[in-house]
Amino acid sequence: MTSIPPEQQALEWQQLLEQFPAEVAAQVKELADIHRVTLATYFYDQMLEDQEANRFLSHDQVRTRLHGSLQQWIGQLFSASADRERLLALVAQQKQIGEIHARINIPVHVVLRGARHLKHEFLALLLRQEIASQQKLQCTRLIVATIDQSMEIMSRAYSDAHDRNSRSEEGYRLFSVAQNIGSEKERQCSAILNWENEVMFAFAMGLSSVQLPRMVSSEFGLWFRHKGAYAFEGTTETEQILQGMEHIDEELLPLFNQSDRSAEQRLQDLRNLREQTKSIIYHLNNLFEQINVLESGRDALTRMLNRKFLPVILSKEVAYALHTHRSFAVLAIDIDHFKSINDSHGHEAGDLALQQVATLLSNNCRGGDYVFRMGGEEFLILLVDINENGALGVAEKLRQQIEQERFQMPGDRMLKVTVSVGLALHDGHPDYQRLLRRADEALYEAKHGGRNRVVVARG
Ligand code: GH3
Ligand code: MG
Ligand code: MG
Repeated sequence: MTSIPPEQQALEWQQLLEQFPAEVAAQVKELADIHRVTLATYFYDQMLEDQEANRFLSHDQVRTRLHGSLQQWIGQLFSASADRERLLALVAQQKQIGEIHARINIPVHVVLRGARHLKHEFLALLLRQEIASQQKLQCTRLIVATIDQSMEIMSRAYSDAHDRNSRSEEGYRLFSVAQNIGSEKERQCSAILNWENEVMFAFAMGLSSVQLPRMVSSEFGLWFRHKGAYAFEGTTETEQILQGMEHIDEELLPLFNQSDRSAEQRLQDLRNLREQTKSIIYHLNNLFEQINVLESGRDALTRMLNRKFLPVILSKEVAYALHTHRSFAVLAIDIDHFKSINDSHGHEAGDLALQQVATLLSNNCRGGDYVFRMGGEEFLILLVDINENGALGVAEKLRQQIEQERFQMPGDRMLKVTVSVGLALHDGHPDYQRLLRRADEALYEAKHGGRNRVVVARG
């Protein structure tokens, strides 16, 4: 799907507003301003009662943050001017809300249900006003059109974000399967050859075609249908391998050892089987080649996870934490004064230091943790299943180890490096972006507090 430029969305909104006389817009704005507390209260009363919606809400969040944000949103949405700058800001705001909904995984229909409640209450309020019915009708049209306009922009941003997310989820799925099947290539190729041997042997023994081992139920066939085809779903090679297996089992093998086959035909049957098996091995090799390309999921310099997998993994961990009531933590890590390392020792020495810091970080995490390179000399570690004290312990240990390490530079020189760390514990908020922001703010504090330290995010 192609994205619509915000300028065009702002223009559409402007054209919508221009259909209404100024006094209608002013009337709606006034109503929204006066009644936004009532509207927000009605909205959240409905949503908190709604089984599907309240999974994303707590009374506490509504009281401390959401009620206020919704009031503000209502105020901005209906404020009268059709000024281009304001409309661009409004478009950006709707887009941002749609992206947040996508990150939290609120289904679109739940958002639309919220919009319906809001329209319902707003129109009920309008009906109670002492204004001419013609004006009321115009106000109704403006209220409905404005909320619809906002919903349309939100939904588009939602599905764009969702598409992006599914694409990296796809990559991650392949990537994680690839981790387990790195050694699988040799194993599966020899499984195909073993099966082929069995067929040849059975053929030489003169077994009837129904007794020949079928490829789909061979070691390879089972692996491919259950794991390989899943890992490589959607690729043409997968289709070709599945079709190839079916062709062998359903068309080639039934001809084997049929009494009416001439000696020449029998030889040709064997050749056809060879050819078809070779082509399956060829496609399989291609698929494994693609895994090598997917190694780009790891950062080339440090072998750490690429940041493009961060949304997928964080969404998964947030959902897991909410479901199991366990916490996890993120550490935002930035090497101190890295620029001066480059400046005094050269860029290559800088690269070498980066690699060694990365190795040290990875070696000091557990198998379940995730280590990302965020870019430059910035790393992010996700510590699973941990409380604040535990996470602080890990962060301090990492910081001290790096401080004590003598990093190897070209020409047998040694280098001392320090890092600053911002630690944020997941506090149950469904939007992981907030967690990252808290960790970044803590990192910023660590830098400003003098570097080479760990700061824990509060609030
Ligand atoms: P601070 O303590 O505030 O973090 O200081 P700093 O110098 O580390 O911060 P800044 O972010 O300003 O500089 C980061 C430098 O890292 C800038 C860039 O030249 C260098 N850098 C980024 N990526 C790489 C890389 O892959 N290799 C090398 N050698 N240098 C890199
Ligand atoms: Mg930096
Ligand atoms: Mg730095």
